Amino acid sequence: MEFRPSARSEQFRARVAAFVQEHVLPLEARLLREHDRAPHSADWRTWRVRPEVEALKEKARAEGLWNLFLHDEKLGAGLTTLEYAPVAEEMGKSLLAPEVFNCNAPDTGNMEVLWQHGTEEQKARWLAPLLEGRIRSGFCMTEPDVASSDATNVRASARIEGDEVVLNGTKWWTTGLGHPQCAFVIFMGLTDEAAPRHARHSMVLVPLDAKGVTIERMMPVFGEFDEPYGHGEVSFRDVRLPLSSLIGGPGMGFAIAQERLGPGRIHHCMRCIGGAERALQLMVERGLSREAFGKPLVNLGGNRERIADLRVAIDQARLLTLYAAWKLDEEGPLGAMQEVSAIKLVAPSVLQRAADAAIQMHGGVGLSHDVPLTAFYAYARVLRIADGPDEVHRGLIARLELAKYRRGGDA
Ligand SMILES: Cc1cc2nc3c(=O)[nH]c(=O)nc-3n(C[C@H](O)[C@H](O)[C@H](O)COP(=O)(O)OP(=O)(O)OC[C@H]3O[C@@H](n4cnc5c(N)ncnc54)[C@H](O)[C@@H]3O)c2cc1C
Repeated sequence: MEFRPSARSEQFRARVAAFVQEHVLPLEARLLREHDRAPHSADWRTWRVRPEVEALKEKARAEGLWNLFLHDEKLGAGLTTLEYAPVAEEMGKSLLAPEVFNCNAPDTGNMEVLWQHGTEEQKARWLAPLLEGRIRSGFCMTEPDVASSDATNVRASARIEGDEVVLNGTKWWTTGLGHPQCAFVIFMGLTDEAAPRHARHSMVLVPLDAKGVTIERMMPVFGEFDEPYGHGEVSFRDVRLPLSSLIGGPGMGFAIAQERLGPGRIHHCMRCIGGAERALQLMVERGLSREAFGKPLVNLGGNRERIADLRVAIDQARLLTLYAAWKLDEEGPLGAMQEVSAIKLVAPSVLQRAADAAIQMHGGVGLSHDVPLTAFYAYARVLRIADGPDEVHRGLIARLELAKYRRGGDA
């Protein structure tokens, strides 16, 4: 593979980096400070979109730093996955930044699904406003009643009845469900139990105001609700929608999910590298500027070794991310499954280690909102479960590895 970034990738990376530095980090610092003073509520109906964030989105859009994740030349910037990797890394330096550039999960995954599989009508109704940042969306796969790391377990139903599809079941951990602008979710449901295992499920576009859809609650992560996005539990009771709400047709859910999760996972990993760089930077700056026992903190105990080990770990993770990105471009999500699982295993763990070490170097303040380290830690910890727990990715890597040695294919 070619390691040198293309000219357009480098140009977008530099512009995004400057924007994050100049506009996003100061706002992030302010929002973190205000977080402690504002009253918090699990009631998403009280959540509001911050006008300062909306203003930054407008600015990013006006500067052409918008929808950079999308390969499409007209709707995005036409960057390949490999070209997008350093750009997304810069966005990962702040947990606020991806949204500012309209490049945040789960909307990006939903936009990609609609871009690739949506009908013209679906694109006009849902993709266009998402691309403009006017609405938000959610993705409903995980269920309380089944181990959802095995997606074939999904049993909420999407039955075809005449010219309608009827949804029943409960989903949880739907990120974005509490956002005041969340207009629809993509629902993954069981359509035909008798079909082959990977052809039983369908994906359905569900307006959030459809009859029978009820948001039950928002679920905290380490006590934080991540407002205004939130992670919600939602029930579907006899929700009737026209068949035109199906994406790609009945039974296509699993195939589309595989395609959606490949790029979605690697985008998280790209951002993890940026988050780990930021954590390391904060760690070093703190360690150089504060003294204990007559020495700068960096010179105490094993701190230099920890810094060296993190430098190496982040660089290793970046190379693996770039390789997986290149493989995705070359061979598509199915051809790059092993590489995407490999980086999904590595990058969140590196971010978790970096955030943890940076918290330690900061002492007590590392655990406060004066620095964004607990948020990075939580993001990393979540990613070791969401989009497939670590063990599932290890299992997939091993299966594909063993298959290389066994006659007749799959192991
Ligand atoms: C903050 C957050 C946001 C999320 N956002 C979304 C979203 O927007 N949409 C959505 O649909 N879901 C979302 N999820 C859900 C997430 O994808 C699931 O939690 C995840 O897939 C695991 O499913 P589960 O919780 O049912 O765990 P289970 O399937 O019950 O697994 C529990 C544990 O079992 C172990 N395990 C499972 N399989 C194996 C294996 N093969 N080998 C060894 N051990 C194994 C692992 O340790 C795993 O953590 C989110 C989760 C969180 C925490």
